[in-house]
Amino acid sequence: SPPANPISNMIETTERGKSHSRKAPLALEVVVVGCGLGGLAAAFCLGKAGHKVTVLEASPVIGEIGAGIQVTPNVSRLLLRWGLGPKLDQVVVKPQAFGFRRFDTGELIGWTPFGDTLEKTHGAPYYHIHRADYHTILYEIAKPHMDLRLNSKVVSVDVIPAPQQTSVSGASNATPKVALTLQFGDIVYADMIIGADGIKSMLRDLVVGSPDRPVATGDAAYRAIIPAGDMLKDPVLRHLIEDGEMTGWMGPNKHIMGYCLRQKKEYNLVMAHPDDGSTESWTAEASTEKMREDFKGWEPRIQKLLALVQSTLNWKLMDRAPLSTWVHKDGRIALLGDACHPMLPYRAQGAAMAIEDAATLGVLFSRITDYSQITPLLHAYQRLRYDRTSSSQLEARMNQRTFHHEDGPEQERRDASMKAAMKLARA
Ligand code: FAD
Repeated sequence: SPPANPISNMIETTERGKSHSRKAPLALEVVVVGCGLGGLAAAFCLGKAGHKVTVLEASPVIGEIGAGIQVTPNVSRLLLRWGLGPKLDQVVVKPQAFGFRRFDTGELIGWTPFGDTLEKTHGAPYYHIHRADYHTILYEIAKPHMDLRLNSKVVSVDVIPAPQQTSVSGASNATPKVALTLQFGDIVYADMIIGADGIKSMLRDLVVGSPDRPVATGDAAYRAIIPAGDMLKDPVLRHLIEDGEMTGWMGPNKHIMGYCLRQKKEYNLVMAHPDDGSTESWTAEASTEKMREDFKGWEPRIQKLLALVQSTLNWKLMDRAPLSTWVHKDGRIALLGDACHPMLPYRAQGAAMAIEDAATLGVLFSRITDYSQITPLLHAYQRLRYDRTSSSQLEARMNQRTFHHEDGPEQERRDASMKAAMKLARA
């Protein structure tokens, strides 16, 4: 036999010692309320971390409405790390540039190269994706890690106190449970609840302790998807498909974002405008006549695009100021995504922040060994995420001003600084 090596022998002993002193990881019973993009990401990350995850969703069916969404590099980085690259490649479009244009003439005011340049700078790509495809991709990776219960609207939550017991080792071994009552009377118990129940979150009311309404931002957004085939027939519009530019048109109190979806088979339009009576629904159809009327006087390409729109949704855009807390005083309920930091979509960060929240929870809860760690870990989660999401909420509000200047000194200053940056980008 080979001579004994005292060094490797020492290392082995140390490792063996370590594994003896390390406690077995604890598998918590986690309930995620809400099966939106944030809830699915949370189910995946916490399930992957070894926990038993149940997702309760109010709706009898899951999915997302027909519209596009932007996936910025801060979140595509996570999706790629989760092994989703090949699935994404089948459905996304990678914009080659981002151009900002004047609303009435189409004059280029700002331009930034995207595509490979952006991927190199940020270490991950920028994608455009259909919301339904995004939801399906996240559902598929979350599915093996969760028990999804549809038609399961949570109507109340009760915290059940536990007798204060400690085991011989000093660890608390009696975990108090949280009980969720569902609309049709079922009760579900959990060690921890993640409220991913969106902007009208009922868990938010419980956590913050003061029920109130989301704030109307004064804007609404028309949403429409045009078949790319219709645009390719038009010599002017075909460039919007072929050039790979994501285009933003900025005008007084309004702006439009246009970009390709589904391997350039569709063109997505988001048209922000002053809210004059939209409903708080993501499925409310609106009049295409009114939509066209609202953008009268915008450049000829916009007129042509809007003429191709067959139907449109109109979403009231709501947000909230940053909350005082995301964690219930009991310490076992925390919020995620739009439930705690809803924001205007003017930075394309709402879903991105929800998915980052989920990734943070997954890392923090990957080594839990005792129920007593739940509360400090949830507070750590809030500490890690709060400043970043709050500044995103505030910056989205700032973009509302920047995008919507009336013609005048502020608009001229904005355009001059964007043009200077464009010159540098193109040099
Ligand atoms: P939601 O998607 O709202 O999901 C909440 C879920 O909880 C729903 O399924 C709901 O049915 C369920 N639920 C609610 N109450 C209960 C209950 N009591 N019991 C059980 N279930 C319940 N973000 C980006 O990152 N990029 C973009 O480009 C982008 N563009 C946008 C454009 C527009 C016009 C808008 C309005 C938003 C945009 N966003 C974008 C933001 C993004 O859509 C949201 O931030 C994101 O969808 C929030 O996800 P969520 O999972 O937190 O909430």
